[in-house]
Amino acid sequence: MAKKQFKAESKRLLDMMIHSIYTHREIFLRELISNASDAIDKIYYKALTDDSLTFSKDSYYIRITADKDQRTLTISDSGIGMTKEELEENLGVIAKSGSLAFKKDNEIKDGYDIIGQFGVGFYSAFMVADVVTVISKALGSEQAYKWESKGADGYTMEASDKESIGTDIILKIKENTEDEKYDEYLDQYRLKAIIKKYSDFIRYPIKMDITGR
Ligand code: ADP
Ligand code: MG
Repeated sequence: MAKKQFKAESKRLLDMMIHSIYTHREIFLRELISNASDAIDKIYYKALTDDSLTFSKDSYYIRITADKDQRTLTISDSGIGMTKEELEENLGVIAKSGSLAFKKDNEIKDGYDIIGQFGVGFYSAFMVADVVTVISKALGSEQAYKWESKGADGYTMEASDKESIGTDIILKIKENTEDEKYDEYLDQYRLKAIIKKYSDFIRYPIKMDITGR
């Protein structure tokens, strides 16, 4: 499948993410949970004003699934989802997250301050994953789409299967190296601690499911 290229600015941000220092990596989960929560907000408010959408409060949730055997960490939401065009637009460029604009204004030479303190968005997933797969079905769509990227070299897009409206973000967690440990992002207690630290205020239930050893 032909690879599509990221915009130049996105490449710079990606590069910054991938080389980010250890202590900042854990914030990828804050970013992905915040996106999931935003997506649920959008469908929730739509349901309030659209009588054809009859969701109960229980149908809004964020699910974190870790599979230690597959080394995958999946963040799923029952939010508004993304069309093919929205996947391209929202994940192919970093324009929306605003962190790069901040970087320019302040002439920060490396990613250090930005990553720790500001919303760095979706691309922070590449701090812990070598492959990021997004499967999404938008409200009002019959067809789901799969966006996939290994980082700097672009992304692929194809039609996919997904039953319910919403988004699954699947991270293929990096292998440990001698200096860098990534296993902790598949560990239930570590994940719980990260969620408690950064995402305690999220107003939808966060369910967790760990499999494998
Ligand atoms: P920001 O959240 O600041 O807009 P991000 O990089 O975190 O920037 O996300 C970019 C965009 O991708 C979001 O604005 C949103 O439109 C879309 N997006 C990301 N994750 C999801 C998701 N789980 N469900 C629906 N849309 C999403
Ligand atoms: Mg975000």
